[in-house]
Amino acid sequence: MTGTGLTAADTVQAMNPDCLFCRIVAGEIPATVVYSDDGALAFTDLNPQAPTHVLVVPRRHFVDIGDLATDPEAGSALLAGIRGTVASLGLSAYRTVFNTGAAAGQSVFHVHAHVLAGRRFEWPPG
Ligand code: 5GP
Ligand code: ZN
Repeated sequence: MTGTGLTAADTVQAMNPDCLFCRIVAGEIPATVVYSDDGALAFTDLNPQAPTHVLVVPRRHFVDIGDLATDPEAGSALLAGIRGTVASLGLSAYRTVFNTGAAAGQSVFHVHAHVLAGRRFEWPPG
């Protein structure tokens, strides 16, 4: 057989069935999708912290930004997904947050950028 050399097992491995955001990407759990492309998906946060609060995730499973950095192509895809999301929402000013590790507030271990907009943001962040 010609092709990528990927087997069915590799395909399954890329999707973690225990991961909430993999299940949203797979369409198994509903979400309000605001942007979608080949590498990334963006959907509204269930518990918004600003008038606009969107989560942008790579379609493939990576635990956090350290894990994502092992695959530059996937990292670029997530950045492109953030750009596409803010363009489609017409945002010119927004805050992006990557919580990394439980102690820093990460609760879903599939890397995601929070994109927040529509209110004033303080610096330093809380
Ligand atoms: P973290 O705490 O990992 O940085 O961010 C996880 C985010 O996912 C939280 O802001 C939380 O509100 C959101 N979230 C948790 N469960 C769901 C869900 O089932 N659907 C959506 N759309 N967002 C969720
Ligand atoms: Zn996942």
